[in-house]
Amino acid sequence: MSDLITVAGVSVDTRHWIGGQRVASADTFADLSPIDGSVLGEIARGTPAEAGAAVAAAKAAFPSWAATPRAERARILHAIADGVEKRIEELAIVETTDNGALLRSHRRGVMPRVAHNFRFFADWLLKLDHEDFETRGHTNHVSWDPAGPSVLITPWNAPLMLATWKVAPALAAGNTVVLKPAEWSPLTASLLADIAAQAGLPAGVLNVVQGYGAEIGDALTSHPDVRRISFTGSVPTARRIAASAAPNLTPLSLELGGKSPLLVFADADLDLAVDLAVEQYDNAGQVCLAATRILVEESVAEEFTRRFVEKAARLKQGDPREEATDIGPSIHSRQLEKIDGFVRRAVETGARVVIGGYRKEGQYYAPTLLTDVAQASEIVQEEVFGPVLTLQTFATEEEAVHLANDTRFGLAATLATGDHERAERVSAQLVAGTAWVNCFFVRDLQAPFGGSRLSGVGREGGTWSFDFYCDLKNTVTAPNGWNNH
Ligand code: NAD
Repeated sequence: MSDLITVAGVSVDTRHWIGGQRVASADTFADLSPIDGSVLGEIARGTPAEAGAAVAAAKAAFPSWAATPRAERARILHAIADGVEKRIEELAIVETTDNGALLRSHRRGVMPRVAHNFRFFADWLLKLDHEDFETRGHTNHVSWDPAGPSVLITPWNAPLMLATWKVAPALAAGNTVVLKPAEWSPLTASLLADIAAQAGLPAGVLNVVQGYGAEIGDALTSHPDVRRISFTGSVPTARRIAASAAPNLTPLSLELGGKSPLLVFADADLDLAVDLAVEQYDNAGQVCLAATRILVEESVAEEFTRRFVEKAARLKQGDPREEATDIGPSIHSRQLEKIDGFVRRAVETGARVVIGGYRKEGQYYAPTLLTDVAQASEIVQEEVFGPVLTLQTFATEEEAVHLANDTRFGLAATLATGDHERAERVSAQLVAGTAWVNCFFVRDLQAPFGGSRLSGVGREGGTWSFDFYCDLKNTVTAPNGWNNH
C-alpha cells in the first residue's frame, strides 16, 4: 500500500512525522470523506510505542530549539506562514474533502487565519517582556522559559485552524510539539509537517502522530517527559486526559464544548438578530462557540420566528465544495445518528419542530429549530454539535440572564439589543469566556479565549498563551551582583 494518497489532486503522506522523518505504522485506519462517504486513504494507526517515540523526538529536539534566539524562532514561524499562504488552495480543498466544512470559508477565511496564527505568535514573542523591577536594591528579572515537550490534541471540526492555534504559540515559546490530530480529519496536519520542514523547522521540533485517541492518547498524556498538554475537544475526553495527566501534575489547557445562548431583546434590530441566529447553522452546527439556545423576549418572539423561518428556508445545503452552498454535511455517520437521537428524544418529550428535524440523503441533517423545550431537558442542556437550535422565550431581563446561565457550560454568549446600558448590564452577568454584543465570531488572537465551567480550563491568546506554554522564572540579583543582605 502506498504511503502517499492523492486527495483532490493533492499528495498527502499518510504516515506519522517523527524526528524529521516519515514513520509508517504496522496498522492503518480508513479516512472517510463526509461529502460522499468515500475512502480517502488508509492512515497510520499509531501505537503507544509510536506515541512514545514522538515524545522522545520532541524531548531530544527541545534543548536546541529552546536555546534558539527568539528572532530566529520568529523568522521560521513566518516562513511556515509563507508556506501556508503558498498552499492555501491545496490546504482548503484537502480540509473540505476531509471534514466537509465549506470550501469557500476554508479558502477565504480559515486558511489565511492559519497563516496568521504563525505570524501573530511570532510577532507577539518579540514583544514579550516583563520589565525588571527592584526590591531593596536587588533586581528582579522575570523570564519566559520554554516549558518543554508539549502534547497538542485537536478535534475535527476546524482541524488545521485549531491545531495551529496551539502549534504556533507552543513553537514560538520555544517548546517542541507532538500534535495528535483527530482521526476523522487527519490530513492537513500531515501537510503542515511538510510545510514546517520546508520552512526550516529543525527535525523533532514538530512531530505529528496519527491514530485513535482512545489507543494512543494515554501514552501521550501520561508521559513524564511531557510538560504541557493543550486539548480541544469534548468533555468526556477532557476528563480522561485530566486523569491521565494527574500523576505527573502536567499543566493542562482545556478548550471544550458549549451550549451558548443568543439573547434577543425586544429593543434589538430584529433583522440583525435573525442573521445572528441563522449564522449558528454554519459548519452544520459543528462549532464549539455556536449559540444554539435562542432566547427571545416574549413580545417579539412570534415576529422573530417568522423572519427566522423565512431566512433559514433560503439556506442551501449540499456539497461543501460548491460556492453557493451554505451548509455542508455532518462529519461522520456516527455524528449524524447522535444528532438524530437528540432530536427524536426532544420530540418524544414534548418539543415542537418549527423547521427541519430529519435526516436527508447522505450525511446531511436538515437545519432544525425546536421550541416548547423545557429548561431542564437534554436538548437544552447538552451539546448536540449539529444544525439544531432551540428557541425559548423570556419575560424579563432577569429571566433572560437566568436561562442563559442555567447550563453546565460557559463558553460564549451573544446578545442582540439596541440598549447599550442593557448590553453592559447583561454581559457583566453572563458566565462566558466571550460575550458578543450585536455581533458573533469576531475573534482577535490577542484576546483571552477559553471557557468557564465545563467549557474549559485556562485561557489562550496573546500573552495568555505564553503564560501557559512557558515556565515563568524570577531571577533576583543582589546589588552589584553580590548578595550583601
Ligand atoms: P473528542 O473529545 O472526541 O476528540 C478530540 C481529540 O481527542 C481527538 O484528536 C481524539 O482522537 C482525541 N482523544 C480521544 N480520546 C482520547 C484520549 N483518551 N486521550 C487523549 N486524546 C483522546 O472531540 P471531537 O468530537 O473531536 O470534537 C468535538 C468537541 O470539541 C465538541 O465538544 C466541541 O465543542 C469541542 N470543541 C471545542 C472548542 C473550543 O475551543 N472550546 C473548539 C472546537 C471543538
